[in-house]
Amino acid sequence: MRICVISQHSSPLDPVGSGKSGGMNIYISHLYKALSRFCEIDIFTCGKKGEVSLGPSNKVIYLDCQELNNFADTVLGYHSSRKYDIIHTHYWLSGIVGLLTSKKMGIPWIHNLHTVEMLKSVRKDQSRINVEEETIRCCNLIISPTTQEAIAIKEIYPDAEVITIPHGVDVHKFTPSLDGHSKLLFVGRIDPIKGLDILIDALKLQEGDIQLDVIGGASKGEDNLEGIKTYARGLRVKFYGPVKHEELNQYYQKASVLVVPSYYESFGLVALEAMASARPVIGFEDTGLLETVGGDAGILVKRNPKNLGWAINHLINNQELCYDLGLRGRKKSISYNWASIAQKYLVTYEEIIKD
Ligand code: UDP
Repeated sequence: MRICVISQHSSPLDPVGSGKSGGMNIYISHLYKALSRFCEIDIFTCGKKGEVSLGPSNKVIYLDCQELNNFADTVLGYHSSRKYDIIHTHYWLSGIVGLLTSKKMGIPWIHNLHTVEMLKSVRKDQSRINVEEETIRCCNLIISPTTQEAIAIKEIYPDAEVITIPHGVDVHKFTPSLDGHSKLLFVGRIDPIKGLDILIDALKLQEGDIQLDVIGGASKGEDNLEGIKTYARGLRVKFYGPVKHEELNQYYQKASVLVVPSYYESFGLVALEAMASARPVIGFEDTGLLETVGGDAGILVKRNPKNLGWAINHLINNQELCYDLGLRGRKKSISYNWASIAQKYLVTYEEIIKD
């Protein structure tokens, strides 16, 4: 089976943790590495023309992105010799490439939205909404990482074909340890949507002097990061900047709790990474964390700084509860290992080809 993967706006080889590079890059690199045992995978992305091999049956193909029509035509050129069985696109920008190519290729088209513009509570981008709507109408299948999101998509787009396959985690890279200090951890791109401001508000409500380590770099320019640093002045907040994904486990291990205060989180890979590292997760119940963390691998609360502060206070002073929730999280994370998740994709690919 040969899969044509489109990740138009960012490469799975880009360093993650700042700019536009985050969970989707980790997801694409790990999923297709696991799938390459069973399929041949060509991942098309933007960059200086050339190919990088990721293994005997997995490569990244960089194409010029100045003109999306040229990008699409080049993908069609590859298809005439490579004869792909499926086109699998990621994020709305790749949806445009799917719209330009899939009919001409005459093969099934699967799309992952990664985030859904209509589901965000913040200001919405109408041109993106239009592309997502057209993509959902034209593709054969949408894969969503949570059932909660799949249901929400069906409510907005009743004709959409949607199934749920969660993202995964490398349970060998993210492992538990017995050390760990009584401090909080935040991991992610510093972007307004990630809600660091609510976390700072929650810390300001605390009587004790709680330490917070912040991992990640600015997402869109330095303004938001500088603003957050100013907002956190006077608190024990340490900004480390982006950390290589391979080196992250030690940061989870050194902390006692991960906080994910995002305003919107389609899935939240960092929560799974904390669970695999046996660290409990605090976040909001109106995010994708509800299906991974749930009620047994951390504490999810209704969205406001007071509730977040209560959860932080409750866990930071209760090491036994932290261990307990952490162990449950580790156990739960095993079922999200990339090999199992890749199997679900493989079955989906086989079924869609058969149909
Ligand atoms: N990440 C990283 N280094 C950093 C910050 C983040 O490797 O300095 C990784 C993190 O481990 C996770 C991903 O970036 O795998 C973020 O994914 P998530 O789903 O939490 O958020 P997204 O970026 O998709 O909004």
